[in-house]
Order: sequence, then structure tokens, then C-alpha cells
Amino acid sequence: SSIPLKVPITLPSGVTYEQPTGLFIGGQFVPSRQHKTFEVINPSTEEEITHVYEARVDDVDVAVAAAKHAFEDSWSTADPEFRARCLYKLADLVEQHAEILASIESLDNGKSLLCSRGDVDLVSKYLRSCAGWADKMFGRTIETGSTHFSYTRREPLGVCAQIIPWNFPLLMWSWKLGPALATGNTVVLKPAEATPLSALYASQLVQEAGIPAGVVNILPGFGKLIGERLCTHKDIKKVAFTGSTATGRHIMRTAADTIKKVTLELGGKSPNIVFADADLDKAVRTIAFGIFFNSGEVCCAGSRVYVQDTVYEEVLQKFKEYAESLKVGDPFEEGVFQGAQTSQMQIDKILDYVEIGQGEGARVVTGGERLGDKGYFVKPTIFADVTEDMRVVKEEIFGPVVTVSKFSTVNEVIEMANDSEYGLAAGIHTKDVNKAIDVSNRVKAGTIWINTYNDFHQSVPFGGFGQSGIGREMGAEALDNYTQVKAVRMSIDRAER
Ligand code: NAD
Repeated sequence: SSIPLKVPITLPSGVTYEQPTGLFIGGQFVPSRQHKTFEVINPSTEEEITHVYEARVDDVDVAVAAAKHAFEDSWSTADPEFRARCLYKLADLVEQHAEILASIESLDNGKSLLCSRGDVDLVSKYLRSCAGWADKMFGRTIETGSTHFSYTRREPLGVCAQIIPWNFPLLMWSWKLGPALATGNTVVLKPAEATPLSALYASQLVQEAGIPAGVVNILPGFGKLIGERLCTHKDIKKVAFTGSTATGRHIMRTAADTIKKVTLELGGKSPNIVFADADLDKAVRTIAFGIFFNSGEVCCAGSRVYVQDTVYEEVLQKFKEYAESLKVGDPFEEGVFQGAQTSQMQIDKILDYVEIGQGEGARVVTGGERLGDKGYFVKPTIFADVTEDMRVVKEEIFGPVVTVSKFSTVNEVIEMANDSEYGLAAGIHTKDVNKAIDVSNRVKAGTIWINTYNDFHQSVPFGGFGQSGIGREMGAEALDNYTQVKAVRMSIDRAER
């Protein structure tokens, strides 16, 4: 069935905007070749927002051809200043469209407007940061004696497949596109099937920014149907993925036959440690932000809280009161901190884990249930009286559910913190500088937050140890994901005349 390539959507604010529904290939919105579409749901109301076109394998092939052509034709060899200018323009456009982008994100993902506005702010900052890198990619000259001239270049990889999740649809779009484009690659990006709207809207901004046709291609669709093609296509040189560890593992295996570069940003079960000497009120606010921000749908959520025994009861009580004071509900309502979970699948999973935890003997201190009967809302949930072997302490829940454990010594809490297959992030709360540094050195995680949490900056790299992933996003490190080193060695003869 065919649908219009743009549909009017009225936001809760009363503003109506035109939402693109087509695949974005070669600088144009087009229907999918098989004219398949899928439904996009508003998680706050469980009602349909619209349908968008669904990419299948034949569409992937067309998009890859467009991306390959754009790579070879101009983008990879363009003056880096041109790429910088395009990305600066894109950042400006994101800023100009910030309110509408944030609203689309809240409509599609369910997160509070407060969270969406924060996301969009980081999107424009990050794109600008990438723009700044575009003309600062340096190779090295290497001293190898008078018989040779040796130097290196950092060259782009080619067409990159980028597969992103539904928890930060636009932010992940920018974390993937920014460094790829700055370094001269072209991309075929697949948004998550639950949240395709913001990436499609932003494709218009990509066009307006003057980014040449084919440099960016967006394919809404299902990972299970087109993921395989993206990982095996011979003209795709790299796969960048953010999502679950299980899917990441599958992608790595599938990409092996064509030896694609693979970077993965996967799940976590991150510890958040409160020492007795911390500023306890600030620590409580921070551990709450650590788990309830973005409705708990955060790969680095501080989902395992560890509190030193002498302040355990006090912190637990304050944490409960603070969690109960958080406003949960309609993401568009002023003052709402926590919106809806993104999908039926997700709320089912979260509520299952609440039951699992109770079955294991953990105590629900607060929450533990759905809020209302329409929309995927879950009350902020705190489990106490847990033991470290419980599934709710070991497994990623990906919702507003946290466990609180007790420890007495530094060595004990480090052992507990490191007892995980993951290693994405960790939080440390203390006023003792020495302890903060010593513990941060000994905890196995890609990011350590001290007296803060979920505190991102465009210049600071983010990524995981262990089964939380491979590669880093943001910062100078993100550029390594999208460049390969070419070494050039020239023989030099003694010049006679
Ligand atoms: P997922 O990892 O399966 O989905 C993420 C992306 O991968 C989506 O775009 C999806 O279409 C795509 N995908 C799925 N199967 C694929 C395949 N075989 N090949 C290529 N791409 C594929 O995650 P999900 O099923 O949406 O959520 C399941 C759980 O994953 C969540 O409950 C949560 O625990 C975790 N998760 C983690 C993150 C994170 O940022 N770490 C993000 C989303 C979900």
C-alpha cells in the first residue's frame, strides 16, 4: 500500500508539522521498492502516530550504491573545510529546529520533553565538535633516515552502515553521522523500528545543510530483515552499532565474512557507589538521575547502587522519598521528569523483572508497578535486600528499576562493582579525592563519573569495557572508528644536480 511521502502531524503543543515518511536515499525521500510500510506508535497513548515506509533488502542495495557513488565522486576527496562547513550548518539547523525535533522525539520515544531538549542540545554541540575536527585530521611524518621519506595519512573507510537503537534516536544519529561525515565517509543509517521519525525529519536538514546527495542515506526498517544485508554487503566497509549485547554479538559474527570493521556500543549494568563521606543529598539526587533519567532506558544507567553500611538506611530512605517526588507521566507536561517507556515489549520486560526480583526475595521499597492503564508508564522502582547473585542485580533491565546493596570496605565494593560481564560506566560519590581516584582506577568501566552521573560532554569519549562494547564515541577517539592509516614510504636517492 502506498502512503504520501509527507504527512501532517499535530503535536500536543498544537503545532502541526510535515513528517517525511519515505526512505531517504540519494538525497531524496522515496517509497520503499516493495511499498511496504509499518506503524509508528506513540508510547504515551498507545495510539498510532503514522506509518512510514519500510526498507527491505533491495532498498539497502540501492542506498549502498548511492553512498558508494557519493564517497567516490566527491565526499571522500573534498576539501575538509567543505565538510566542516556542511556540519556547522547542520548543527545550526538542528539548533533552529530544536523545539520541533525535541517534540518529535518525545512523541515517538515517550521520553519527557525535558530529556528530549537535553538530547537535542547535545546533538548540535556534538555536530559542531565534529565539524571542528574535519580539517584537523593529521597524519605523521616518521624519521626513517636519509634514504626514505615516510609518512602516514588517515583515510576514510568508505560506506559505513550504522544501526541505532530507540532510546536516544536523534542523539545516536548524531554520534554516528558526525564522526563518519567529518572524516569523509558516507553512510547508510538504520534507525530503530520503534523510533524512525526524528532521523527522517533531520534528513531534510541534511539536505538543507548542503551535504551532497548520497552522503547520508536513512533506511527505516527492521533489524531482523535488513540487518543481515547491512553486515554482509561487500561495499559496506564498516558497521557501527548501538543496542543490545545479544544483537551486537550477532552483528560481529555476521560481519566476519567480509572482515568489516565493527564498533559496538552495547548494554550495561553499571555500579553507582555512595561512600559514607559523600555529600549525601547530592549523592541521592545523582543516583536518582543515574537510573531514572530517560525513563531508565540508558545503556549506562546506574542500575546497581552500592551504599556504605553506616549510611545505608539514611540513603535508602532519602532515595525513596526523592524517587516518589519525581513527576512521572505525559512527556509534554511541564515539570514531568520521567515519561513513558518506548514500547509494549519494553514495559513487559520491565514488569517481568519486577516480578523476578520479588520472586528472588528482593524487597520493593517504592514503585514496582505500572502507572495508569494507558501509555507505557512505570513508577520509579527501588529494590533493597538484594544479593549479588540475583538476576535483577546481574541483568540489564533497561527501565526505571534499581537495586540498592550494602558494603562496608573499599575492597569489598570494588569486587562487587567489577562482578559483571559489562563495563560501560560507574559512579563514585565521595569527598575524599584520594579515594575517588583510587577507586576509579580499580573499577573496570569505560566511563567513571565522580560526584555526577549520566554526565555527557561532546569532547569526552564514551564506550565500554568487556561485553559493553568496542570503540569509543565522541571526543577525538570517535575519529579512530572512521579512519584507517595509510603509510607512505618513498625511496630517496642523493640528488646529483
Ligand atoms: P536491539 O539491539 O535488538 O535493537 C537495536 C537496533 O538493532 C535496532 O535498530 C534493531 O532494528 C537492530 N537490530 C535488531 N536485530 C538485528 C540484526 N539481527 N542485525 C542487525 N540489526 C539488528 O535491541 P531491542 O531488541 O530493541 O531491545 C532489547 C534490549 O536491548 C532492551 O531491552 C535493552 O536491554 C537493550 N538495549 C540496549 C541499548 C543500549 O543502548 N545499550 C539500546 C537499546 C536496547
